[in-house]
Amino acid sequence: MNELLFVVQQHQAMHLHWDFRLEMDGVLVSWALPDGPSINPKEKRLAFRVEDHDFRYKDFEGIIPGNDYASGKVLIWDRGRYEPQNAGSFCKLHENWLSAGRLEFVLYGTKLQGAWIIFRTEAKLYGEDTWYLCKKDDAFSGTVEIVKAAPRSVVSGKTIDEITAADGIFDLNNYR
Ligand code: MN
Repeated sequence: MNELLFVVQQHQAMHLHWDFRLEMDGVLVSWALPDGPSINPKEKRLAFRVEDHDFRYKDFEGIIPGNDYASGKVLIWDRGRYEPQNAGSFCKLHENWLSAGRLEFVLYGTKLQGAWIIFRTEAKLYGEDTWYLCKKDDAFSGTVEIVKAAPRSVVSGKTIDEITAADGIFDLNNYR
């Protein structure tokens, strides 16, 4: 049985967003969600594909130095195991599953659980593909706004405002 990991990192950059990352073929395939995930099946959430991250980034909480769009505070909002559902073989997830533009999976996080889907649409926004992350209706769906109801780190218990440099300073050299 493959053990694959997902992580959601809240990121207070120039704009607050949540980075949703799925481990595939040894890297963290990533989307940025301006409004974060919703456990309400009626609320699909806009997601932009952003660059793959080193797998070790799953443990990063702290501050990314600088003044560009990617700098700012990072908090591990949720993390856990996930299972691909419509991936065929678990080999070459990155190549086969991601390119299909429709990924179904079950999350086993602290906050996010049950069945989910993320899919690519034809629409472009700012010249980029748009995706939507959506909760499927099951025992783990609901109507609470989970990013507001459960704002704290699953690792440190901190809120994004409580993150300081003491939690960690991002150093790219540690991730390549
Ligand atoms: Mn980010």
